[in-house]
Amino acid sequence: MKITFLGTGTSQGIPIIGSDHPVCLSENPKDKRLRVSVLIEWEDYAYVIDCGPDFRQQMLRANCKRIDGIIFTHEHSDHVLGLDDIRPFYFRQGDISIFAHKRVLKSLKKRFDYIFKKENKYPGAPSVHINRLKNASFKLKDLDVLPVNGLHDKLQVFGYRFNHFAYLTDMKSLKNKEVKKLKGVKVLVINALRLEPHRSHFNLKEALEFISVVNPERAYLTHISHLLGFHEEVEKTLPENVFLAYDNLQITI
Ligand SMILES: [Zn+2]
Ligand SMILES: [Zn+2]
Repeated sequence: MKITFLGTGTSQGIPIIGSDHPVCLSENPKDKRLRVSVLIEWEDYAYVIDCGPDFRQQMLRANCKRIDGIIFTHEHSDHVLGLDDIRPFYFRQGDISIFAHKRVLKSLKKRFDYIFKKENKYPGAPSVHINRLKNASFKLKDLDVLPVNGLHDKLQVFGYRFNHFAYLTDMKSLKNKEVKKLKGVKVLVINALRLEPHRSHFNLKEALEFISVVNPERAYLTHISHLLGFHEEVEKTLPENVFLAYDNLQITI
């Protein structure tokens, strides 16, 4: 399984428009972060988790020519706003499969009503094949996927476990029985927003505590704010098996 980090930034991305913050002005490519998303590939299959405002740019950058579906974590704009840009995939492949909690599907239907319309559809509008997720394992082709339920302040969010790989973002709290689903995972991705606490995201300290509970072989931090600091400097402070993810990073599991 190959994972490509399409974006590793928080909701505004890095740099923030108009910001003079030193991290926003950094020339290190690792300090430039599009909105959070990953591409997951195995055999001939390709799925993305979330589809934010940078989706088009991310698909071009990763040279991604087809996708088998999009799995959503939750309905915040930084995770869904790119849905219109499935059009090139739709024109070549037909309806694109989307996987989401029913509340997320409701929000998508409201924001992108023209995509979900059945009649009098505007020519050129894409269509989707809806897969409603519950907190129970589901199949992507030959692969079993296990949702991991968490809270993002008060909002329900799904992370996902794919065999030895788990991807969780926008988490602030998880019940013990959900954390147990991650037992034995080799590679864990988890959000770490910044150093200061935040009401709806793990900060660095909380993310590191979570990693030590899950105890994976390796962990990567994502959904990063400029307030976390420079990539190179933050990395030096991390435990041996914990890394800051960065855009275009590829890992094989
Ligand atoms: Zn987010
Ligand atoms: Zn969010």
